[in-house]
Amino acid sequence: MTVGEPERIAWIDTGAIAANVRRLRELAGTPRLLAVVKADGYGHGALHAARGALEGGADWLGVADPAEALALRAAGVDAPLLAWLLDGGADFGPAAAASVDLGVSTLDQLARIAATAPGAAVQLKVETGLSRNGLPPESWDAAFARAAELERAGALRVRGLFSHLANTSGDDDALQEQRFADAVRRARAAGLAPGLLHLAATEAAIGRDQSAYDMVRTGIGIYGVSPYDDGDAARLGLTPAMTLTTRVVAVRRVPAGAGVSYGSTWRAPAPTNLALVPVGYADGIPRAASNRAEVLLAGRRRPVRGRIAMDQLVVETGDDEVRVGEPVVVLGDPATGAPSAAEWAAWAGTIGYEIVTRIGPRVQRRPR
Ligand SMILES: *Cc1c(COP(=O)(O)O)cnc(C)c1O
Repeated sequence: MTVGEPERIAWIDTGAIAANVRRLRELAGTPRLLAVVKADGYGHGALHAARGALEGGADWLGVADPAEALALRAAGVDAPLLAWLLDGGADFGPAAAASVDLGVSTLDQLARIAATAPGAAVQLKVETGLSRNGLPPESWDAAFARAAELERAGALRVRGLFSHLANTSGDDDALQEQRFADAVRRARAAGLAPGLLHLAATEAAIGRDQSAYDMVRTGIGIYGVSPYDDGDAARLGLTPAMTLTTRVVAVRRVPAGAGVSYGSTWRAPAPTNLALVPVGYADGIPRAASNRAEVLLAGRRRPVRGRIAMDQLVVETGDDEVRVGEPVVVLGDPATGAPSAAEWAAWAGTIGYEIVTRIGPRVQRRPR
């Protein structure tokens, strides 16, 4: 039941997520697949994403924050879980007690985990070319030696070793792969036996040979959004999992010259019909797509006119008269005629990742 608020629903096709996981596993060919469900499942709802991914056979779930992992545990998800963005000053007891593997990127984090979460399972993250998170090469020998010592003392267990690619070019990726292989050799020389070696996210899981690795960490692909610039998920055999729908809340006919929305950045060149659609940038619809975007309304693509506002946007229907309550598909599978995340990304000058992930909290996530 509503109390009068407009309908804004992100329908989440968990079957599509399951199928995408199967497809990515086939493309990657690794024995294991980790489905990344950070940032509320890239905006799809972490629990819907987790359920779809596990139904599709994902072996692991991955998140950035330990809190995201604990929320999944609280919701009853008991699959293996890895969290890799840590506050080095934290108490890691709750994560370890919930059997959440911790992705370690600094020596301080290693010490802190041993001190606050004895027995925790960790996966060491090594920096190989992204200059972001990960143990820097100059600390590898010290970190591996310390981890081996802590492991022998029973203070923690090193289950895996991983890194992350910059997807800059084939040559750059190859260099990162070599550095990773070097890290693996040095970890083994220090006495570690990490059983899970993983490097690739979606793009490399599809595009690079994974035979040297035990697992891939696929995020965007499981949601049916392409990691590539062409945005064509269908070409990869992936199906978009999110369909964002709403309904027209008002219609009006305007005369030639009528200005539409703030700043009148669009004026009707001739008399026309306008439909008011109750989603805006508070819901993650990018303002940068003003006067460029289209939505699917009454069987056709219709242009968004004027600036996209916080809660609403205006669509021109020309001489077609649409009714209040008419469904609008704002985002979905392009095979159905809906605008895709990739199209929104092009209209807004961003990437499909950002489009789905920023869908806002007023939009209800409903599985279907
Ligand atoms: C987000 C993330 C991924 C997933 O990346 P996609 O491009 O969405 O597949 C994998 N690994 C790490 C470390 C990440 O932060």
